[in-house]
Amino acid sequence: MINIKDNLDKIKAQIQQACQQSGRFIPLGELSPQSPIVSLLAVSKTKPASLIEQAYLAGQHEFGENYLQEAVEKIAELAHLPEIVWHFIGPIQSNKTKQIANNFSWVHSVDREKVALRLNQHLTDDNPHNTPLNICLQVNISNEESKSGISIEQVFSLAKIVDNCDKLTLRGLMAVPEKNAPKASYEKMQQLFTQLKEQYPSVDTLSLGMSSDLDNAVAHGSTMVRVGTAIFGAREYKV
Ligand SMILES: *Cc1c(COP(=O)(O)O)cnc(C)c1O
Repeated sequence: MINIKDNLDKIKAQIQQACQQSGRFIPLGELSPQSPIVSLLAVSKTKPASLIEQAYLAGQHEFGENYLQEAVEKIAELAHLPEIVWHFIGPIQSNKTKQIANNFSWVHSVDREKVALRLNQHLTDDNPHNTPLNICLQVNISNEESKSGISIEQVFSLAKIVDNCDKLTLRGLMAVPEKNAPKASYEKMQQLFTQLKEQYPSVDTLSLGMSSDLDNAVAHGSTMVRVGTAIFGAREYKV
């Protein structure tokens, strides 16, 4: 039997340790010791609502999903959990933007103008989320043909488009570096994030790091790690 509470505790300890090892610590007096400087997104794709609820009851409130159909069903099933927050982290088809806008509080995988404009357009006043939709731009940092994401050169032009959308809040950048990606890829993401933060006061999120590269991501300024396997166990089908 998988013990989700234990797994969450282990991951949080690992994040804490990675922060300390890389000299990221909380300045005394600014934040309470409990304030995390790296938040944990639990990636629940392919996992049943019952396991998500277990994680919620163990104190985890932020969840990431990749597949819209599957996600929408679970979101409906778990609507009774008052503080649950859903993040969309998968590839986006532009004809699905309405459903994404209606169901999620965050989208990490915005990678083109059309998607940003459509998300904005669907956030009408009768949308259940009356707060703005939080947006990260996905950067294809390893330049993989198979992966979604913009190139480094496109970051600032797409950032401007998102920032101009009245129903979207530009929060930062997301990346999925290839397996064994060089340190330079992480350094580049950190540098882009720093530059973007200087231009846009709303930017505070570098969504970087998964079960296998969490330490490296935290060492390079990640503010949100997206962890699936280490919390919920291996996925039954490869995705
Ligand atoms: C599946 C997935 C994760 C979680 O990966 P694990 O290796 O299971 O921790 C994180 N981010 C994205 C975009 C994913 O698709």
